[in-house]
Formats: sequence, C-alpha cells, structure tokens
Amino acid sequence: MSFSHVAIIGLGLLGGSIGLAVEEHLPDVKTTGYDADPKVRERARQRGLAGTIADDPAEAVRGADLVILCVPVGAMEEAAKAIAPGLDRQAVISDVGSSKESVAKSLAKALPGHTIIPAHPVAGTEQSGPDAGFASLFQQRWCIVTPPKGAQEDSVAALARFWQQLGSTVEVMTPEHHDMVLAVTSHIPHLIAYTIVGTASDLEKVTRGEVIKYSAGGFRDFTRIAASDAVMWRDVFLNNREAVLDMLDSFLDDLEAMRRAIRKGNGEAMLELFSKTRAIRRSIVEQGQDDARPDFGRHDHG
Ligand code: NAP
Repeated sequence: MSFSHVAIIGLGLLGGSIGLAVEEHLPDVKTTGYDADPKVRERARQRGLAGTIADDPAEAVRGADLVILCVPVGAMEEAAKAIAPGLDRQAVISDVGSSKESVAKSLAKALPGHTIIPAHPVAGTEQSGPDAGFASLFQQRWCIVTPPKGAQEDSVAALARFWQQLGSTVEVMTPEHHDMVLAVTSHIPHLIAYTIVGTASDLEKVTRGEVIKYSAGGFRDFTRIAASDAVMWRDVFLNNREAVLDMLDSFLDDLEAMRRAIRKGNGEAMLELFSKTRAIRRSIVEQGQDDARPDFGRHDHG
C-alpha cells in the first residue's frame, strides 16, 4: 500500500514543508491543500505549496488517500470536523501535532470509523506561516508515529514509508510515551526559553538595551526558541499538561539543587553537572541531530 494523493490541511511551516517535500521526493503523488486563512491560501498558491489549493476543507480532501492535519494542536478537532464531508472511507488520517494523546482523542471524536494514525515529525524552526516551509525540513530528522491500539499494520507501514521517503527516520511509540519524551526534549526547553527571555525583558537593574547588546553571552540562543509561534505553544502546554508538569517538577528539583550549590559555593556539584551535559551535546552532534558550528549551521533558514 502506498499513497497517491496527499491532502494537507494547514499550510504553515509544517504543511508547506510537506507539500514541497512531496513535490521533490514523490513527484508522482498528487497534493491538495487548504488553510482556514484566505491570505495563507493565496500565498500557498504563489509558492506552489500544493498542486491545488482548495477554498473549502471538504473539497481539499476529496479523493485523497492520505490526509495530514497541520494545524495547531488546539484546532485539530475543528479542522477534522470540517473535512469530514469530503473524506474517502479508505483514507488514512494523520497529523503533525506536537502532543499526541489529546490529538488522538480529538481526531477519534471528530472522525469516528475512520483510520486515524497520528504522527509527529520532530523537525521545525521558530518560523511559522506559508513562507516558512522548505522541502528539506524532514531530512535526517525523526518522525514519531503513534498508532492507536489495533491500528491496521499496512496503514501504519504506509505512513512510516511516506515519512521515510521525505527523508525522516521513523520510530513507533505510544502517544503517552511520546508526550513524556517530548515534554523533556521540547516542551520544557521552550518553557524555559520563554520564561528567561520574559525575565530579562522585565528586569529593572539591567536595561533591555544592555540585554540585547550583550546577548552573545548565551541569551540570544534562548531568544531563537522563544520566538516560536505563540498559538502553537499555548496549545502544546494546554494539551500536554500532565507530562509537562511531571517533567517540570524534576527540573525545579534540579534547579533548586544548583541554587543550593551556588549559595554554598559547592564547585564540585557544578563541575559534575556541567561535565555530564557537555557529553550530551557531543552525542547530539555525533548522531547528526545538530551542527557543531557556533551558528548551528542554521544561517540558510534564518
Ligand atoms: P503554522 O506555521 O502557524 O501553520 C498552521 C496553519 O494552520 C496556519 O496557517 C493557520 O492559520 C492554519 N489553521 C489554523 N486553524 C485551522 C483550521 N481549523 N483549518 C485549517 N487551517 C487552520 O504552524 P506550524 O508550525 O506549521 O505547526 C502546525 C502543527 O505542527 C502544530 O500542531 C504544531 O504543534 C506541529 N509542529 C510544529 C513544529 C514547529 O517547529 N513549528 C514542529 C513539529 C510539529 P492561522 O494562522 O490563520 O490560524
């Protein structure tokens, strides 16, 4: 089983990148797209993010054998309801949402009787909107597929193959485990970045001008993450609450331990932690998940 017509709902960073990647890697596969925002649809037509851009969600999915919802997590249910009238009974419905347990529930509720196989490509940038997408976004990145219990194996395999053809390596796990892993690798880091950048901009003893001027000391690397789409991240924290709170407790315990070490002048405790974390950075670079260059090799995509 392989897909011949992919419909993409939501034509921002993720949806646009899927459309461009399909055009590059699977040129025989037909693509159709839809976005709730007419201005985004217009820009998507200009950029050719999908072969055809429909003005109606049900029209966009008509005849598609794979439908991928690329809207913020909080909009998944509404988007799924809107495509329902046009869906083929045999179509596989998937998504790219950053949290999986709540999305699986929303999609199952909105589309009873349909084959739903949620997924999350662990690939992104801090940019959003129809100008943000690029064909190589998924190259050498992981895509986590989270099928529900009892999902048809051939559909799961076809979805996995689709992501591999776009350049990703696929891993299958439960939605609950996905949400725990992503809480620590993505959601908490975003929360820390948003918080530290907020703290720095509200300080009274150090001016905002100084914060910007001397940002190369480390702060600027947090600002990249803290520039991410506000709606997307609000939805992630509203939808992955339990796992985020769990990981946040662990983080706060460790932060408190570091606070104690600084207060007591315990350099040993600091050296132990800072050496361990350097090794993690080395492993990430060795496994091709980042670039060792100081700009992370990201100059091509802003
Ligand atoms: P994005 O660039 O903001 O694109 C989302 C698009 O969906 C916007 O154009 C939005 O329009 C549109 N939309 C919202 N509600 C809709 C609806 N009901 N029907 C049709 N279109 C609708 O966001 P993104 O970064 O591509 O994120 C999309 C999804 O991918 C999210 O679920 C996110 O969690 C996930 N994800 C993101 C990243 C990342 O790094 N950004 C990585 C992996 C996965 P409006 O702007 O007008 O609302």
